[in-house]
Amino acid sequence: MNTNWTVKSIRDSVNGGSVTALSIVDEALRRIEEKDGEIGAFLEVFATDARKAAKEVDARHAKGEVDLPLAGVPIALKDNMLVMGHIASAGSKMLADYRASYTATVVTRLQAAGAIIIGRTNMDEFAFGSSTESSAFHVTKNPRDTSKVPGGTSGGSAAAVAAGMIPAALGSDTGGSIRQPSSLCGVVGMKPTYGRVSRYGLIADGSSLDQIGPIATTVEDVAIVLSIIEGKDSHDATSVVLDDLTSENVSSDLAGVRIGVPKEYFIDGMDEDVAARIHEAIETLKKGGAEIVNMSLPLAPYALPAFYIIQPAEASSNLARFDGMRYGNRGEGAIEESYRSARGAGLGAEAKRRIMLGTFILSAGYYDAFYKKAIAVRAAMKMEFDAALKKVDVIVGPVSPIAAWGIGEKMDDPVSMYLADVFTVSANILGIPGISVPCGTAHGLPVGLQILGKSFDDNRVLQVAAAFEALHNAS
Ligand code: GLN
Repeated sequence: MNTNWTVKSIRDSVNGGSVTALSIVDEALRRIEEKDGEIGAFLEVFATDARKAAKEVDARHAKGEVDLPLAGVPIALKDNMLVMGHIASAGSKMLADYRASYTATVVTRLQAAGAIIIGRTNMDEFAFGSSTESSAFHVTKNPRDTSKVPGGTSGGSAAAVAAGMIPAALGSDTGGSIRQPSSLCGVVGMKPTYGRVSRYGLIADGSSLDQIGPIATTVEDVAIVLSIIEGKDSHDATSVVLDDLTSENVSSDLAGVRIGVPKEYFIDGMDEDVAARIHEAIETLKKGGAEIVNMSLPLAPYALPAFYIIQPAEASSNLARFDGMRYGNRGEGAIEESYRSARGAGLGAEAKRRIMLGTFILSAGYYDAFYKKAIAVRAAMKMEFDAALKKVDVIVGPVSPIAAWGIGEKMDDPVSMYLADVFTVSANILGIPGISVPCGTAHGLPVGLQILGKSFDDNRVLQVAAAFEALHNAS
């Protein structure tokens, strides 16, 4: 079991009857017990519920359900996805005692497929950050080097998978929060096209940017989990009718595939070793039969400033409900004082910073100067990327300009933390799919190759990722 702790292998052995779902869950609980004291990936492990759910999967098996697509697979959830009756805190003290009154659609779909929800993982408060250090609860360490951050904001999910505690987890990605921790921890993580996966039951960050997606150790496992959670949901009007994903045996043929390499994805200040790994990855894709097309996306440098206008604007509006009245721990005093004390005590520094930035950006007089300009940049970028993606099938580059940094290193410098997102935010601004696939190490720490595709062409992104993974593993 130690050698092959993948979604596919677990699913096949449970369906084949060689192991029970209960024994898999007990093994996951044992691994978490053994490793999580050091890593701190989990905020809570649902041991009792997970064992009960595993027995139910075993009972379904006994009744003849022998082809459940995720039979007995333990999956962890980032702490911003709701499971009825369980706490969902979004990494915030504000919601430390909040219990969900309904279950997220992604969770219902995982459970129907036979997966076992094993617990909730640490994250930056309300998904603001890039290192998971903004969590109100504890720091999560990078399993590849415990003096380093795991990335963020889905750092708990990526670390739990990278440490081999669980085969897969869900994260959410508003500006890179699935891809960047996956890159820094050396696992595979995908942000699907905006609309592919329902956000019903996801605590909102930036509503025009948010998307849920899987983190696992192989591209195939990511594809399997994504094929279960995707699709139209009447509870989320932005979700669309699809069901077109190749769940496994993703074709890894690169013949005829055109891959764009924008020069703007190699910038001053980027770590040279990281850049070297990305150039080698591009060489590998070329040797594998892909056609490499050097290109320019002149508006790409505007993605980060536009993101840090749009995201706080949307997040500050979404966070208004956490006032101690509608949601969150109650404050003290008469109404205005009560709001002030609830938010003052319940929210951390980064959340307050985003609320202030967002409120400022949306204020009369500043709306036109900031928000409207950022929306115009978004529209112009869309035209530029659409035109580029007519000439190529996918665009590749780095996920992060640097490998994992030391715990505490950037916490006093928000702008340098924001700069970590320079290559990931475009996918959210444009709604396009993106994946991070491991492509080697820099200074002994993992580096991820980012593959971006056209909207709803998630299959193509998975195909190129699977091809790269196979070529890279063989080299
Ligand atoms: N790092 C970005 C932010 O802090 C994106 C985070 C995310 O994707 N949730 O907003």
